[in-house]
Amino acid sequence: MSRERGKDVAEGSSENQQQPATPSRYESQKRRDWNTFGQYLKNQRPPVPLSQCNSNHVLEFLRYLDQFGKTKVHLQGCMFYGQPEPPAPCTCPLRQAWGSLDALIGRLRAAYEENGGTPETNPFANASIRVYLREVRDYQAKARGIPHKKKKKQQISSKRNDESSSAIHIVFKKDASRKGLLEDRISRDTDSPS
Ligand SMILES: [Zn+2]
Repeated sequence: MSRERGKDVAEGSSENQQQPATPSRYESQKRRDWNTFGQYLKNQRPPVPLSQCNSNHVLEFLRYLDQFGKTKVHLQGCMFYGQPEPPAPCTCPLRQAWGSLDALIGRLRAAYEENGGTPETNPFANASIRVYLREVRDYQAKARGIPHKKKKKQQISSKRNDESSSAIHIVFKKDASRKGLLEDRISRDTDSPS
């Protein structure tokens, strides 16, 4: 049993799963994310076997993704700090939006267990990931002047339903055109007027 599991995990295969001919966007995004994460682990020096992957690797992965982010997050010294619509460009860094990371973690958490990992060892379900995401959320909300009012307990209580409804694409390659839509969706999702 454990050998089989190891094999599945190592190859990221899902041979004992039914693969529908046209997987949903969520499913295909999840598979892409899973492959990306697997690739990331392989590219580490030395490579990290999935069986030894822990929450620290996941946190490093999230920070690594920031270089591909397209969300302007103002630094505290910036004159536009806290302004949702800055009137001019600034040199603050681009990051992954909190909502993208949150949705990504949800997909990877599901993928980990679908690929033979156990809930007990699931690094994506680790409390430190929750803490990190909360910090990112609060920091970005302040820096961008976009409060996240709703206190959703996504990490703890939600199942796949919530995650699939927030179908947010992490785009690992440069693709500026999509970001606007994405941002829009995130802020509408999290800022709905009360
Ligand atoms: Zn700035």
